[in-house]
Amino acid sequence: MPGRLTHINASFPADCDTHPMSDAPPLFAAREPIFPRRVRGRFRSLKWAILVITLGIYYLTPWIRWDRGPNLPDQAVLVDLAGRRFYFFWVEIWPHEFYFVAGLLIMAGLGLFLFTSALGRVWCGYACPQTVWSDLFYAVERWIEGDRNARIRLHNAPWDGHKARLRLTKWAAWLLIAVATGGAWVFYFADAPTLLRDLVTLNAPVVAYATIGILTATTFVLGGFMREQVCIYMCPWPRIQGAMMDPGTLTVGYRDWRGEPRGKGGIKRRQEAAAEAVGGGDATPRYGAAATPDGDKDHAGGRVARDGTVLGDCIDCNACVAVCPMGIDIREGQQMECITCALCIDACDDVMSRIGRPRGLIDYLALDDRPPVLPGEHAPVRPLATEGGDAPETAVPAQTAAAREGLEPGRRATDVDGSPAPAALTADRPFITQGVGDWKPQPVWKHIFRLRTILYTLAWAGIGVGLLVALFVRPEIDLTVAPVRNPTFVTLSDGSIRNAYDIRLRNKHGEERPFHIGLTGDGVLRIELEGEDDLTVDVPANETRLQRAYVTARPQDAAAGEARSDLRFWVEDLVSGERAFEDTIFNGVESNDERFGSAG
Ligand code: SF4
Ligand code: SF4
Repeated sequence: MPGRLTHINASFPADCDTHPMSDAPPLFAAREPIFPRRVRGRFRSLKWAILVITLGIYYLTPWIRWDRGPNLPDQAVLVDLAGRRFYFFWVEIWPHEFYFVAGLLIMAGLGLFLFTSALGRVWCGYACPQTVWSDLFYAVERWIEGDRNARIRLHNAPWDGHKARLRLTKWAAWLLIAVATGGAWVFYFADAPTLLRDLVTLNAPVVAYATIGILTATTFVLGGFMREQVCIYMCPWPRIQGAMMDPGTLTVGYRDWRGEPRGKGGIKRRQEAAAEAVGGGDATPRYGAAATPDGDKDHAGGRVARDGTVLGDCIDCNACVAVCPMGIDIREGQQMECITCALCIDACDDVMSRIGRPRGLIDYLALDDRPPVLPGEHAPVRPLATEGGDAPETAVPAQTAAAREGLEPGRRATDVDGSPAPAALTADRPFITQGVGDWKPQPVWKHIFRLRTILYTLAWAGIGVGLLVALFVRPEIDLTVAPVRNPTFVTLSDGSIRNAYDIRLRNKHGEERPFHIGLTGDGVLRIELEGEDDLTVDVPANETRLQRAYVTARPQDAAAGEARSDLRFWVEDLVSGERAFEDTIFNGVESNDERFGSAG
């Protein structure tokens, strides 16, 4: 088999009986291609809606215009790397405001924790880009090559003109989507109409073509060919989510207490078996009719087969497996491969509707929603006593009890506590109810509103509110002050002590503004601006300006003789009157160090 670890075996003779790996299973298995079948249902519709919304947002957002004034870009969402800005509609994030980005990333992480603890891998199943693009590629594939059976036939068919034409058409469509995906990405980093024109006329920067090329290739390969392998082998999230889910987490699961033992066969044959079980050939009950209350998702209809076996609701039609994009069988229990896309729920609900049984054999379930008793286990809820008789001394397997009830039509039974058991089999009630007694799962809201999810929500909302407040109270002008350290001060010829500072002034307005710089401190200090006659500088629109300032203390001033004095720089926007400040230190002669101090 290609890829099998033959090199490990190479140093051992082929006929060596003691070969340590001679009986070991192969460590490599070739990928089995998956051909998911088309499915319709509420979760499929939800996934289509999310696909359209997320892809629509991704492809169209760079083309939304937003008027910010004459000196600012009019693209609503723009990562301006050259100008070191991030524009998001009316919000403009400067480099020193990176805490907004950090806060949003923390919120995204907490949101994932919240959704995973409440709803399992809902992100993977509905909104992860790998899922969305794979879904889109599957839709294109189905449109061109047909549904599951047609694609399997095509896959197994030898290469000929028909197969080549379909494959080339599909790959061309995938490539178009991949190019559009890579192309859309670069439009977030430059004015989209201008960049598109430059791309078409081959005047765009090389990095734009390279980015599009890389993203096109990754989209084409990951979405078209690797698909579920990305989720299973490349993405760390399936492993991480195992640590984030708990028994109360809702995830896609199979009600095996209702579905098992599964059994194949046509409905007609089972109807006949049921009629036979109730003792008359004239009974023609509908499959499952009146066996359980409407909407009861946890009790099996208890089909009775010809051989007396009581069957669960799963008719082993394999529809849930055929639609699964991960190629797994959810009836085998929770599996790391399951992305909780819920398509198997839609498939099985459709089957249940067709055979007249309540939907929800596969459903969103929590591990702690399992009933205390399962078919085949020794079951305190199942032991039956005939009317007027004694209860069995020991519990009997539920399957046995159910089968006995089903095989003795007309017999009435009571539970061990004397309460009436489900009515005997009749023509109106051809199926027994097996499995779980009066047990009911917890309501969905109890799985969602738990201490853990509430704490996540509070943390998420707290950070969100904090960011919003910070966004709305942040000033339109700003400054940062960096004392010049080399030297920390100079001594002038008259004995004055002078410190230098680099002040970075930020004007977030859309027009140039005059800024007045001042200071307050512990001693009498004088300030001068390098290259300026006075203390006012003009800062261009939406830009920063670096200004060197000198602060001097005369010999008789307190600040000159002290090692460190507190100092506060002020900046005032002379148009709006807005003010901002930043505190720093003035170094006097006591801080003198022969290495740094010098006479000016
Ligand atoms: S078993 Fe398959 S179809 Fe069902 S939720 Fe998991 S990944 Fe989706
Ligand atoms: S779709 Fe439902 S009935 Fe069919 S095999 Fe799956 S679980 Fe059983």
